[in-house]
Amino acid sequence: MLMNLKDVLAVANEHGFAVPAFNTSSNMILTGVIEACEEKKAPVIIAIHPDELHFVKKSFVKAVIEEAYQAKIPVCIHLDHGASFEQVMEAIQCGFTSVMIDASSRPFEENVAICKKVCEAAHAVNVSVEGELGTIGVADSQGGWTYGAPADQIIYTDPDNAADFIAKTGVDALAIAIGTSHGIYPKDMEPKLRIDLLKKIKEKVKIPLVLHGGSANLDNEMAEAAEYGINKINISSDIKDPFYQKCREVLQDKGIREPNQIYPSCIEVLKEAVYHKIDLFRASDKAKLYR
Ligand SMILES: [Zn+2]
Repeated sequence: MLMNLKDVLAVANEHGFAVPAFNTSSNMILTGVIEACEEKKAPVIIAIHPDELHFVKKSFVKAVIEEAYQAKIPVCIHLDHGASFEQVMEAIQCGFTSVMIDASSRPFEENVAICKKVCEAAHAVNVSVEGELGTIGVADSQGGWTYGAPADQIIYTDPDNAADFIAKTGVDALAIAIGTSHGIYPKDMEPKLRIDLLKKIKEKVKIPLVLHGGSANLDNEMAEAAEYGINKINISSDIKDPFYQKCREVLQDKGIREPNQIYPSCIEVLKEAVYHKIDLFRASDKAKLYR
């Protein structure tokens, strides 16, 4: 069933779990994510970044919508890191049920102004909005990210600012910076999550909280984040990496060329990674709470 982010996360917030948001930019990844989430009876957010949307074209969103209608689990289609009002409007026109507007690199008042504008437009057509306060770092350059700060320059989210931001903008969910970075961390860098800060923010903020850069963090920290009030965790590298590692292995066979011969085993390893995240986030068997 197709849902917006507000409705998907309200249940997670009430019952204390996190819904996984998987960056999805191919039919193979979509198949693996939806199949695995259905098997685990977990709600899911299909996240598509503007760069990914540019690559897969708008018709891909129609395929995701079709999958969502047929799925027996809640499915939200979410624009990841919308950078402008125009980008967000385009996503809404495509059929996204949720959008992120990321103006976290701008001064507080500018961030407020654009989020408020996006909320007014999106809410009018029942589309949810995620804002971001504080900056999430970039751990490696593989993702081609054009946003985020170097991982050693993360600006942590201030709890009072967060409450003020939500009151002024009307966002449905807030991405906070508590120490994660996008991508896979270099070997000498150990991610450290500020669970103490998360607890302080959760005391002041009642709407669902979002954690970006959920890949390559310690399993116990992710589980703790879900336990202490994060309701959406973004995963990209941790499903794509095993998928493409397996592709490389399969393609060692120089004679193989049919997609239906190459991809099934790659989809299987991706599904294993999805199962693992669902369990960590306590999202397993939660679809029944939505009926
Ligand atoms: Zn992100």
